[in-house]
Amino acid sequence: MALTFNVGEMRVDRVIEQELPGFDPFEFFPNLTKEELEEHRSMLEPNALDPASGLLVFTMQSYVVRVGGLTILIDSCIGNDKDRPTRPLWHMKTDTTYMDALKQAGLTVNDIDMVMCTHLHPDHVGWNTKLENGRWVPTFPNAKYVFSKMELDYWTEQNAKKPIGHFVDSVLPIVEAGKTELVTSDHELTHGVQLLPTPGHTPDHYSVRLSSGGSEAIVTGDLIHSPLQCACTHLHARPDVDPVQGLATRNAIMEKYADTDTLIAATHFPSPSLGQFIRNGDAFGYRYREG
Ligand SMILES: [Zn+2]
Repeated sequence: MALTFNVGEMRVDRVIEQELPGFDPFEFFPNLTKEELEEHRSMLEPNALDPASGLLVFTMQSYVVRVGGLTILIDSCIGNDKDRPTRPLWHMKTDTTYMDALKQAGLTVNDIDMVMCTHLHPDHVGWNTKLENGRWVPTFPNAKYVFSKMELDYWTEQNAKKPIGHFVDSVLPIVEAGKTELVTSDHELTHGVQLLPTPGHTPDHYSVRLSSGGSEAIVTGDLIHSPLQCACTHLHARPDVDPVQGLATRNAIMEKYADTDTLIAATHFPSPSLGQFIRNGDAFGYRYREG
């Protein structure tokens, strides 16, 4: 399986931490019906829906972009040693998969110049930090961490009401280390790397638009979680902070990019993850491609 692809002059690597069945479809998509799942089962199995367990498969991966001398890591996945008691697959992990995958892409933690977090959920901020002598320290010592200011403000406020584990161990230490670059969700980070506001899943979620040499790709973040949401355009995801806005945002992006050459780099879709939105009657589909 190819893990490297190009967008014009940019090299992009997929750095995969996990690709496992882990989410009950009816719990994750609260307004999914049994009939709808049956209708789309053959399109999902085996890669996006595990036939044995009946669970949705979500890939946990970073996209690492090399452009103009900069190395930019988009979404830092789950991380190790993190206390996530409600998520057994994420809880107190100690494996070397992620760091091995980074090495396979020809990179070390020192090479990352920027870490972009599309939003501040636990599976997008985990490797921001690592445990060192009992303290959480930045994993990527030379990186600036690019957060939406509005997103950071929202979670800071939520955390003040009731402490949020992943915010405390994977976001606050970055803020305290003075490593953040706070931006608006439509900011142009560097030539050809543009934040694209995709609010709803969280208040100021952003996707990342890459453009180079006439080619274009969108790294989705959690704009969308499963190809099931292409076929069933009314589905919202349980963790959506604003389900109505999330749905409107997702459908507008599918509408805009369906049947175009824009490559979709879907963060949680099963490998190869990359593909195109296509129109299918009143709804959409997803056509996988290798990049
Ligand atoms: Zn996610």
